[in-house]
Amino acid sequence: MSDAESDADGEWSLPDDLSAVREALIEWYEADHRAFPWRETDDPYEILVSEVMSQQTQLDRVVTAWNDFLDRWPTTADLAAADRADVVGFWTDHSLGYNNRAKYLHEAAGQVEDEYDGAFPETPDELQELMGVGPYTANAVASFAFNNGNAVVDTNVKRVTYRVFDVPDDDTEFEVAANELMPDSESRVWNNAIMELGGVACTQTPRCDEAGCPWREWCSAYQTGDFTAPDVPTQPSFEGSRRQFRGRIIGTLREYDELAIDTLGHRIRVDYVPDGEYGREWLRGLLADLEADGLVDVDRSGTEPIARLQR
Ligand code: SF4
Repeated sequence: MSDAESDADGEWSLPDDLSAVREALIEWYEADHRAFPWRETDDPYEILVSEVMSQQTQLDRVVTAWNDFLDRWPTTADLAAADRADVVGFWTDHSLGYNNRAKYLHEAAGQVEDEYDGAFPETPDELQELMGVGPYTANAVASFAFNNGNAVVDTNVKRVTYRVFDVPDDDTEFEVAANELMPDSESRVWNNAIMELGGVACTQTPRCDEAGCPWREWCSAYQTGDFTAPDVPTQPSFEGSRRQFRGRIIGTLREYDELAIDTLGHRIRVDYVPDGEYGREWLRGLLADLEADGLVDVDRSGTEPIARLQR
């Protein structure tokens, strides 16, 4: 068990090298991520508007609505002074779902102006005092505007932690895991990064290799080939045989540290025959891909190549 301790029953645990786990995800996120405009701002009003809009609507469509909304009402003062009918009309024109959300947003802007002198509260608890702002939205605004939130635990985060660390399907366990994982005082980048992982890599049908998932070396699902999750009750169907063997290589090298490639071959498939169809040639191809992805090193200086995880 790691010092990043987990549940009382000891059925799962986070890896001992937790700082490497965290760094890998943050680096992956910072290298490339979907460029939503609300990720470029730390203005709590702009973030609140994006959160309220995206509860009902696909993110790509929210971009236009969000830009139009902020052009029209750039600050809480502008929104508070607007006619409620205009705000609701805007909501309907942009097909943003329940009109109540427009009314709540208008009301919340009034609260910020009247009760908080135009400055948003900064903690999840205080943010929940605003009209229509529940725990999830309050935490998102605290994280993304003030870097002051807890770990987000949404469907994406549950799917990821279930697959990677075998966290059982239980809300309390997910919350413990998500908060243990999040580095202190880094809720802004962390919550963005883990949600991005669930949004573009660890999707219902996962894209482990295609998306260059930074958690492959720690991921239980990648190594066992079982990609079910709380919201994915049956094994997703995908073209999986190369991925399956890449996963087995990673799992085997974690266990044995380093292996000569024939030994590795025999450990990952029973029908491994060095000169056969599934032999050295085939294994070298997989190892070359894993090397290119920065996951494995192959030492070719001796008579037989030795493979190990990259450190
Ligand atoms: S390796 Fe695959 S299953 Fe595991 S976290 Fe990454 S995308 Fe998800």
